[in-house]
Amino acid sequence: MQTETIYLDHNATTPLRAQAREAISDAMGPALNPSSIHSQGRQAREKLETARRQIAEALDARHHDLVFTSGGTESNNMVLTAFDNIAVSAVEHDAVLAPRPDAHRLAVDSDGVLRLDELEKWLEHIADEDKPKSLVSVMAANNETGVLQPLKEIGALCAQHNIAFHSDMVQAAGKIVLDLSIDGLSFASFSAHKVGGPTGVGALWVRPGLQIPSLLKGGGQEQGRRAGTENSLGIIGFGAAMAASIAELSFMAELAKMRDEFEAEITASDPSITILGGGAPRLGNTSAIALPKMPSSTALMALDLKGFCLSSGSACSSGKVKSSHVIEAMGQTELASHILRISGGWTTNKDDFQKLATALLAL
Ligand code: PLP
Repeated sequence: MQTETIYLDHNATTPLRAQAREAISDAMGPALNPSSIHSQGRQAREKLETARRQIAEALDARHHDLVFTSGGTESNNMVLTAFDNIAVSAVEHDAVLAPRPDAHRLAVDSDGVLRLDELEKWLEHIADEDKPKSLVSVMAANNETGVLQPLKEIGALCAQHNIAFHSDMVQAAGKIVLDLSIDGLSFASFSAHKVGGPTGVGALWVRPGLQIPSLLKGGGQEQGRRAGTENSLGIIGFGAAMAASIAELSFMAELAKMRDEFEAEITASDPSITILGGGAPRLGNTSAIALPKMPSSTALMALDLKGFCLSSGSACSSGKVKSSHVIEAMGQTELASHILRISGGWTTNKDDFQKLATALLAL
């Protein structure tokens, strides 16, 4: 039996990058409350602002437009709870869907790409007086399939109709070049642990001139936009990880090649296997495959015994494998509990994909 562990679940969380580990361990020890006015507080503030600048630079944004949060979930909740009339794509992460079950769900095509005609229809029916309280939320890249959404076109439509536009960029950050300057984009969510940083820390980018109420009450941190003492060590690790992931962005093209070769090999050897979202632009690290011959849970357990850390389509935050709403929205309901998500990252090499192909075809 294979004893080596092959981690191909970077979309769930990434192993901590060496740069993040080093930055965190260098900062550990002294008191780190950036709001304290004494010398240690000022040093903590300096470290926090250095991390903010690192993240801003990686995103080509202004550092004071970034609000630190506890992660992608909180960043999404902050925006989704600040508006009354909301439309979201049907393939959003639960951190967008759950806070607003009343939101209108916009349909996607069979690759999981938002139908712009559906968005246009929704936008056209908003009365002028409701516009300031209306929001569109569409992710940059899907966590299950890696499929990219046409943010530029979505932003242009929202701008044309004067509607705020939020994008959950948690999965796209550090994997593709993001453009926060596109027309119409109002807010964007980020998470440290998807770019090689620690869990429990993230950020919300707020377009200059826009306001967002603090979700948490109890302190004036983050210019009154997020109450609570900042997670300084986490933020320091986030800054280092973001800088490293942007410096190594070209590795994503190599990863895409490994992924493409893997998909070509398994589909050639077993024609019953299909690739979800394969017809749309995708993140280079992600492969969502449908294995009609067995449910995801059986395949996941069999591959786990062989040392592979993979995921089913859906985020299984409760530890249970549930059928994927993303795959259902793509019109593939019969495959929704037969999906394996393979997602590589900075620890991945060609051997990992080759070994997985062999193990998968032997199931
Ligand atoms: N949004 C997307 C697209 C995600 O994939 C995730 C995590 O899986 C989140 C939001 C939640 O981020 P966090 O774990 O930092 O709360």
